[in-house]
Amino acid sequence: MSAGRYAPSPTGDLHVGNLRTAMLAWLYARSTGRRFLMRMEDLDDNACRELGTGQLADLAALGIDWDGDVVYQSERLDRYDHHIDRMVQAELTYPCYCSRREVREAASAPHGDPMPDGAYPGTCRSLSADQRRAREDAGRAPALRLRAQVDAMDFVDDQCGLTRAAVDDFVIRRRDGVPAYNLVVVVDDAEMGIDQVVRGDDLLHSTPRHLHLADLLGFDHASYAHVPLAVNAEGVRLAKRDGAVTLTELAEKGLDANRMRSLMAASLGLAGPDEPLTMADLLGRFDPRRLPRDPWVFTDPNR
Ligand code: GLU
Repeated sequence: MSAGRYAPSPTGDLHVGNLRTAMLAWLYARSTGRRFLMRMEDLDDNACRELGTGQLADLAALGIDWDGDVVYQSERLDRYDHHIDRMVQAELTYPCYCSRREVREAASAPHGDPMPDGAYPGTCRSLSADQRRAREDAGRAPALRLRAQVDAMDFVDDQCGLTRAAVDDFVIRRRDGVPAYNLVVVVDDAEMGIDQVVRGDDLLHSTPRHLHLADLLGFDHASYAHVPLAVNAEGVRLAKRDGAVTLTELAEKGLDANRMRSLMAASLGLAGPDEPLTMADLLGRFDPRRLPRDPWVFTDPNR
């Protein structure tokens, strides 16, 4: 059965921008008769289960429900190893000894297609065995990179339309041994039966990476809808420093989850800012063709 999902990283309370993306993912899934699954992306260095529990409580307070048990990435390491091994066996990977700084400095080379975050120019792609040994002897632990078989890929995004971006040799296992986001997101979406991905548009240009990896692993493509993020008054992506931005902080200022649901719905053009309504009400009004395409400027309404 087909499914959508929300996949937060439990590194702190969700802010209104994250919660609004979750609302959209839920609306997309439920309005198309899909199941809605929850996945905790808890492989991040700062992730912790307790924070995930708070996030789930906030989602529930808004009326966002999900099917089945929450999936924790930290319990799926054997699945990631399995698929990484398949790629290694197929000679589709290579070790990379570059530091973050080296990647940043090398990546500024011009390229026709939009580049995903942290795009890699392939510095370590054709190192000889001797060169590899020299780097290992110098004590550099390698990350594992995909040997990408294409330069770029395009796809039709449900919100952004035809989108093309470069596919680089991205990391699939970090130098500390942890499988990388760009690998686990593909494995999880496929193995959880996700065929509809709704997420923030900061990942729009990473999607060709995911589609290419899905091709190499023999997985079907999901459909994608990348939605605008929330920003502060200066147009910068919303963050903790922007004052009251989580449900807990906003409740302390007198804006409870019901009020916030209305405000978020208003920002999506689905309600008046003070109109009381449930997620089920929103479902009746949801039309993905009429969502705003600009970022949501959020300033604490009580400030
Ligand atoms: N954990 C990622 C985030 O919070 C999820 C990205 C995705 O939905 O693929 O941005």
